[in-house]
Amino acid sequence: MLIDDVRAWLDGETWRGIGYPDLRDWLDTQVSPAYECDWCGREGDAREADSSICLVVTAWDPDLSPAAQHIFTYKYHSACRPSSVRWVNRADIPSGLQRIALPASMKPEVAGEFDLDAPALLAPGLDDGDQPRAVLLN
Ligand SMILES: [Zn+2]
Repeated sequence: MLIDDVRAWLDGETWRGIGYPDLRDWLDTQVSPAYECDWCGREGDAREADSSICLVVTAWDPDLSPAAQHIFTYKYHSACRPSSVRWVNRADIPSGLQRIALPASMKPEVAGEFDLDAPALLAPGLDDGDQPRAVLLN
């Protein structure tokens, strides 16, 4: 059960600064139809019951987010939540130092991997007349 915002994202109409392969194919072949509903916590299966997805996407911002990037997918029973695109904007991005916790496992063969993107931008100087300083944002 997809709403227009989700269809527009899947069809590439709202991508900005980024390109994805065929997201309808991704939804059909890569996204598991069986899921644990991120709203009620009960199991669901898109092959058996109406289901919905929420795509969490960074809102394009010329300084903070040069790409509208899909960062997470929530899955719901349609009865629990409608499909949506949740645009994450600057107010949702934490500032200052952040602690990152990685999942731990007793199984040594289980590995975690994450990517940190550090876009370069110019920050204003500290004093009037200072030249802008190049900084990395991550
Ligand atoms: Zn549910």
